[in-house]
Amino acid sequence: MKPAFELAEVIERFGNSYSESFKPNTYVQRVLNAIKLCRTSALGGHVDCCEECGHIRISYNSCRNRHCPKCQNTQREAWIADRNQQLLPVNYFHVVFTVPDKLNRLFLLNPPVRYNLLFRSAWDTMAQFFLTKLQAESGMTAVLHTWGQNLSLHPHLHCIVPGGGISVTGNWKQVNISKNGKVYLFPVEQLSAVFRGKFMERLQLQMPVDPNLKRELYKNNWVVYTKEPFAGPEAIVEYLGRYSHKVAISNHRILGIVNKGVSYRWLDYRDNKQKIMHLEGREFLRRFSQHILPKGFVRIRYFGILSSTRKNNLQQLQLTLGMIIKETGSRDWKEICRTRLNYDPDLCPHCGKGKMITLKSIDRTRNRITIISGDSVFHCSESHFHAISIFLFRLVPHQNFKERVYNFR
Ligand SMILES: [Zn+2]
Ligand SMILES: [Zn+2]
Repeated sequence: MKPAFELAEVIERFGNSYSESFKPNTYVQRVLNAIKLCRTSALGGHVDCCEECGHIRISYNSCRNRHCPKCQNTQREAWIADRNQQLLPVNYFHVVFTVPDKLNRLFLLNPPVRYNLLFRSAWDTMAQFFLTKLQAESGMTAVLHTWGQNLSLHPHLHCIVPGGGISVTGNWKQVNISKNGKVYLFPVEQLSAVFRGKFMERLQLQMPVDPNLKRELYKNNWVVYTKEPFAGPEAIVEYLGRYSHKVAISNHRILGIVNKGVSYRWLDYRDNKQKIMHLEGREFLRRFSQHILPKGFVRIRYFGILSSTRKNNLQQLQLTLGMIIKETGSRDWKEICRTRLNYDPDLCPHCGKGKMITLKSIDRTRNRITIISGDSVFHCSESHFHAISIFLFRLVPHQNFKERVYNFR
């Protein structure tokens, strides 16, 4: 279902006031602009027509920016297909590493360096636990989220960790199975303490940390939880897919856009209740822009036996463990729509039978279209094109697609 409100609209309405007040850098401006223009005529597109019933559809190109709430579906599905290649037939755990809000200021001072530190410390912690508790080497897939539910800054990593590792002799070693048959990874309190230690140690090499702040930081738990949420290997990638291509706010959470600002839904984890937040437009955009990652920053990373340099070892391990490796499906977006999103972009949405044929592409700079129908010539803007073309199709009887007399320029 199409959401009632979109982030693009917020940017359209409040983008200027945000830029004047907060003076974002040109990269942030560019990202906001891309989201604003996503799937509008400004990005170009194409006109398709149904072979059977003559239904006309105009589609505009998407911005494909990784911060755009409209552009993540096919990317996520392609990513999931790739992940299926890396699976092992073992238990997996979801571990969340987070840092206290008191560090937000230091994160904003130098985002890429701090986010790297977060990744590094989390993996070092994991690797150390596997080594000391299991005498094995394992891996981890980590996804960076920088936001909390209400759009504030809340850097944390969602990590998926296999419940075992490879021993020095090359065998797979499973983590403990407790008396009640439950598999658990490592005790959360211990993980938390080690992670905090590693993070703070490195942070102090980067910059001096105020002793009072340091004391405060040691009061919190830095690992939120580790749980084993999965029914089977395929369920793991589906599960991780929920986190991998999220953006700071989805369009469905925006409840209203008025002159004064924006209201949106958020989940308050303190009492687990859905609440509504109202923000001035430029403040909403300021919060959203905090989550625009530095250009080129890698926000999904693979460690240990899952890192790309270890691909051959991983395949060997999959064979040893009896995993049947499936072929990756096609990464063509149309194929992804058909196989994973239950939607065939080539099929007419009107009659459900005919094939959609592209009649014309609209380039991004032109905003006038010429329609030639028999002896008549129509000029129209793209916004009127849809209405005019429907009118024409009704007016001129047509037997089949090939006899149509329309010509688009
Ligand atoms: Zn987009
Ligand atoms: Zn049709």
